[in-house]
Amino acid sequence: MKIKIVDFHVHFVKSGRWHPWVMDWWKRLNPDDFGLVENFTREAFIRYLEESGVEFAVILPERAPQTTCDITTEEVLDFCRGEMRLIPFSNVNINISTYPHRELEEHIKMGVKGLKMHPVHERFSPLDKRCYPLYYICEKSGIPVMFHTGTSIFPGACNSFGDPKLIDEIASDFPELRIVMSHGGRGFWYKDAQFIARIRKNVYIDISGLPPHRLLDYFPELERLKSKFVFGTDWPGASIRKSIEAFMALPISGAAKEAVLRENALKILDV
Ligand SMILES: [Zn+2]
Repeated sequence: MKIKIVDFHVHFVKSGRWHPWVMDWWKRLNPDDFGLVENFTREAFIRYLEESGVEFAVILPERAPQTTCDITTEEVLDFCRGEMRLIPFSNVNINISTYPHRELEEHIKMGVKGLKMHPVHERFSPLDKRCYPLYYICEKSGIPVMFHTGTSIFPGACNSFGDPKLIDEIASDFPELRIVMSHGGRGFWYKDAQFIARIRKNVYIDISGLPPHRLLDYFPELERLKSKFVFGTDWPGASIRKSIEAFMALPISGAAKEAVLRENALKILDV
């Protein structure tokens, strides 16, 4: 079975822009790709996607200078421009931006296909009133919002803001908003995340940052809820090629693999 894969969770890498503790962590988790991380170019990365069988990759900015890096949406847009395979997302940090909603509207005009919120690294509650206009804009514009849910080990991370139960309230307030819970509540909250994905029509889980061979331990209902999970790697935190191989080896149906590796992502992105 040859599926053209969508990687829903890829970080934009620029050497010297991420804190050393993040670089060390990547090197430990994914030594195979560290050469590419250190000498990152668009051409080399696109070749790497091609070799891995990935047709589209969602590229994420992150404005979390205290915790990981400060990579702006504009930089990600520049990186993705003119290359169909690369799908730029926005990141708005309500603790940095004076008018978060205006910033998001600008990003949408410039061509982002979704919004990444990082309450854990950027240290705010996803229920903060400053976030609500962003959810409204995404719902109205028909673009998805993705939340980091679950823990992070980096200094400065505020893990209590990664509780997926906070996202349930947003799903209730914005029923048409497509929501992706990245990492499925990694650490404390897998069950909660799976339950919310089950009961909320437009809530999905991206499986990035989790060892694929453990997925059925974390999400025993993966097969039944196959329309609610999307594949992602958290690259460079994991090898894209090896993650795909490990996912393909799971004892789930071909239909579930196809849904998670491709179909659900295209539906969420509306492409
Ligand atoms: Zn990530």
